[in-house]
Amino acid sequence: MLAFRLSDDQQALLEEILAFARQELVPGMGSPDFHRHRWEVCGRIGLPGLSIPRAYGGRGLGALDTLIALEALGYAHPDNGLNFALSAHLLACVVPLWLYGSEKLRQEYLPGLCDGSRIAANAMSEPASGSDAFSMRTQAVLHEDRYVVTGTKTFVSNGPVADQVLLYAATDPERGFLGGISAFWLDSQHHTFEIGPVIEKAGLTTSPLGSLYFQHMEVGREFMVGGEGKGAHLFNRSMEWERVCLGGGHLGNIQRLLEKATELLRTRIRNGSERHALQAASHQLAGWQSQWEATRLLAYSAAWKMDEGRPVTREAAMSKWRISELYKEVTLGISLLFRGSGMVDPDVEQSHMDALASTLYSGTSEMQLTIIAQTMGL
Ligand SMILES: Cc1cc2nc3c(=O)[nH]c(=O)nc-3n(C[C@H](O)[C@H](O)[C@H](O)COP(=O)(O)OP(=O)(O)OC[C@H]3O[C@@H](n4cnc5c(N)ncnc54)[C@H](O)[C@@H]3O)c2cc1C
Repeated sequence: MLAFRLSDDQQALLEEILAFARQELVPGMGSPDFHRHRWEVCGRIGLPGLSIPRAYGGRGLGALDTLIALEALGYAHPDNGLNFALSAHLLACVVPLWLYGSEKLRQEYLPGLCDGSRIAANAMSEPASGSDAFSMRTQAVLHEDRYVVTGTKTFVSNGPVADQVLLYAATDPERGFLGGISAFWLDSQHHTFEIGPVIEKAGLTTSPLGSLYFQHMEVGREFMVGGEGKGAHLFNRSMEWERVCLGGGHLGNIQRLLEKATELLRTRIRNGSERHALQAASHQLAGWQSQWEATRLLAYSAAWKMDEGRPVTREAAMSKWRISELYKEVTLGISLLFRGSGMVDPDVEQSHMDALASTLYSGTSEMQLTIIAQTMGL
C-alpha cells in the first residue's frame, strides 16, 4: 500500500530545516552578492552534504529525504541563489565524487565539502558546447603519468569561489561523448587554472557564476574520477540526482508565493472587493496549487524510485521539466497578480528573476522532452 504522508523522521527533518532556515539563515539575508560565511552557516546543519553517508561527514539522506530537505529550505529561505548554489555543489559535484571517486579522494575531500568549509563547482558547459556535449573542445592529453588540460569552461556555478572543481574533458575526442570524456577532481591548491570574473545575471545573484580557463594544466591520474572514458556516465548520473532533487527548492519557493498570493486575495476581499470580481485570479491560484500538488507527487515518486535503485532517466527528466516550467509560469503569474493589485513584492519579483534560469540549467526543457520522447521509443 502507498502511504502518502511523511514518516516521523521525514517530518522531523522538515521541521529541523524550517527552524534552522528561519533562525540562522533568514536574518543574514539582504546582500545581492555571495558571502562565504553564509555558506559556512549552512555547514552547521550539514546542508552542503545532505546526501553523503555519515562516514564521510554527510547527513546520510537518500534522494527523497534530500528533496524534502531542499523543499523546506526553499520554502523558508527566500535566498534562492544560495539555495541553488548549495544544491549544485551537492548534487553535481559532491554526490558524483562520493559515487565514483577513489577512496583516497573521498576521504580527503568529502568531509570539508559536507561541513561547509569547502565549495565545489561542476565544469561541463563551454562557450560552444551546452546541450550538445559532443562538441566539447576541452582536452586532457596523457603525457606519461599526467594529463595536460587545455580549454575553457563557462556558466560554472560556484566557479568564482570554488575550492574544488569536477572537470569534464575529452580524453579521446574520436570516441565522442560516450567513451571519449573523462572527469577529473581539481583542487585549486594543487592545480593551476584561471578563474574568470563573476558573470552578471538578473536572477540567482547570490550564486556566483563564471568561466574557468585551462592552459596546459597538469593533473595526475589519481585525480581522475570514475575511470577513463566514464565521464558521460558520471555526468548523466549526477544530472539525474540534480533533476530529481534540485527542484525541491523550487517547489518550496512556489508554495511560499502561492500562500502569499492567496493572502493577497483574502485581504482584498476583507477590504471590500467582491469575491466574484476576483474569480479569475482565484481560479488561477486554484489551478497552480493543483499543478503544484501533482508536480510534487511526480518529484517524490522519482526520488523514491531513485532510492529503490531503479532507473530514473525518464522520471528525472519529467520532474525537472514540470517543476521548472511551473516555476516560471507561477512566479510570473503571481508577480502580475501583485502588480494588478498595485503592489510590488520584492520576494515575488526576485523569485521570478531566479526562476527564469531554471528551464536552462541541468539540461534545458527541450532536452528533457527529448529524453522523455526517447524513453517512449520516439
Ligand atoms: C544559472 C545557470 C547555472 C548554470 N550552471 C552550470 C554549471 O554549474 N556547470 C555547467 O557546466 N553548466 C552550467 N550551466 C549551463 C547550462 O547547463 C547550459 O546553459 C545548458 O546546458 C544549455 O546550453 P547553452 O546555454 O549552450 O544553450 P544551447 O545548448 O545552445 O541551447 C540554446 C537553445 O536551443 C535549444 N536546443 C539546443 N539543442 C537542441 C535540440 N537538439 N533540440 C531542440 N532544442 C535544442 C535549447 O533547449 C535552448 O533553448 C548553467 C546555466 C545557467 C543559466
